[in-house]
Amino acid sequence: MKILFVASECAPFVKTGGLADVIGALPRALAAAGVNVRVLIPAYPGLRALAGRATSVMTFDDLSGGRARIRILHTEGLELMLLDAPRHFDRAGTPYLGPDGKDWPDNDRRFAALSLAAAKLAMEGAGGWRPDIIHVHDWQTGLVPAYLAQSGRMTPPVVMTIHNIAFQGLFDASRLPELKLDHKLFTPEGFEYHGRIGFLKAGLALSDKITTVSPNYARELLTPDFGMGLEGLLRARQNDLTGIVNGIDDDLWNPETDPNLVRNYSARSLKRKVANKREIEARFGLQRSDGPLFCVISRLTSQKGIDVLLDCLPDLVGQGGRLALLGTGESHLEARCVAAAKLDPGRIGVIIGYDESLSHLLQGGSDAILIPSRFEPCGLTQLYGLRYGTLPIVSRTGGLADTVIDANEAALAAGCATGFQFTPVHPTALAPSIARACAIYRQADVWTAMVRRAMRHPVGWGRSARAYHRIYSNLPAA
Ligand code: ADP
Repeated sequence: MKILFVASECAPFVKTGGLADVIGALPRALAAAGVNVRVLIPAYPGLRALAGRATSVMTFDDLSGGRARIRILHTEGLELMLLDAPRHFDRAGTPYLGPDGKDWPDNDRRFAALSLAAAKLAMEGAGGWRPDIIHVHDWQTGLVPAYLAQSGRMTPPVVMTIHNIAFQGLFDASRLPELKLDHKLFTPEGFEYHGRIGFLKAGLALSDKITTVSPNYARELLTPDFGMGLEGLLRARQNDLTGIVNGIDDDLWNPETDPNLVRNYSARSLKRKVANKREIEARFGLQRSDGPLFCVISRLTSQKGIDVLLDCLPDLVGQGGRLALLGTGESHLEARCVAAAKLDPGRIGVIIGYDESLSHLLQGGSDAILIPSRFEPCGLTQLYGLRYGTLPIVSRTGGLADTVIDANEAALAAGCATGFQFTPVHPTALAPSIARACAIYRQADVWTAMVRRAMRHPVGWGRSARAYHRIYSNLPAA
């Protein structure tokens, strides 16, 4: 079975969030099940050097207004296909934002180019390789099934995965000709979304199967609170929608081998975790204390509930806790985090920025990780927390609810708790869960048992890769 993944990010090459982690890890897990996956992503500036080593397998004289090539190379256990289209992707900034922090004004054309290239590859094959199935991810690749549908040819089936429905890729209808989209599909059954072009809408309406990244989020998406306007379409396609929880990449996220830690450890050598805590204290300017060290590793956006956490800091510190926060995002939230650290230096430490290595160290040395998200399709930081024995404190939503077992009385008695859940996302619910964590932390043997259990909790890709495999196997052949 040959599958083409199409996405806008892939770890460890280019990453702004959990999407990249999934695209980097799932293909390798599928390979173990005998599935041959190639991953097509744009050749952003950070990938130019790799592109230089790769073999060209397809050329475009004019891909949305620029010359382009698809190149392939084997690296980091992946068969990586790079869309080398300098006009669209060789720019400083993130995959989506210019250096001024604003969306690139031609994001529609850029990601239409990615989708056009993928559709051509799907129909014609390249270098003797033609995929049986196309698997597209999030709005940036939502037009792939639209281009396939309007080709009028027999084309491979398409699976679309929603990693976050909050990002939908909506653009003005006047862009139809520029994007080479057929007016006939500009209907509510196609890619029209309230008079605009919806890239995600296109993918959801026109793909053969839809998946999302946890069973609970799959249910939530059918409701107006979480479906963000697409709940009606998803309800109509409910029989084609499956929730499969994300896993983690065991090679990159393993406390026994992680090169970003000062000291490696396992569930049997937990005392070694302390060396990592000391390093965090030094890096974040925190004083030592007997209470738990909480961490946050997050985009600083309203989705992530950071404002709610900031309101709870007096409670956290009052219980003897400390906080190390690493994040970047909306400037008003960044400013509030920095101000909180200024107000209570030694107990609140904040680093604004994106730092992959430091994110590993935080998982390696903290006692607990706070994730008060308003919605969370799957969430990966709680999975890393479990693997590193850094107990997750999570809001009961999306994949957070699916993956963390709350330390309530019954779960503690049964010996199955792995973290703490709270609801609703409000300081009056978060503060008590922080207090519960602090109270259990003081009972060292109960805490340690939870940590060991969390570390044994299965968070790898095995089961989920098999679930994707089942979906692929049940698709109609091209
Ligand atoms: P989302 O994709 O919504 O941002 P996830 O929890 O699914 O949330 O994935 C976030 C990923 O990005 C995790 O791998 C996390 O460690 C990483 N991450 C988030 N913020 C930072 C940061 N400031 N520095 C380093 N890594 C970060």
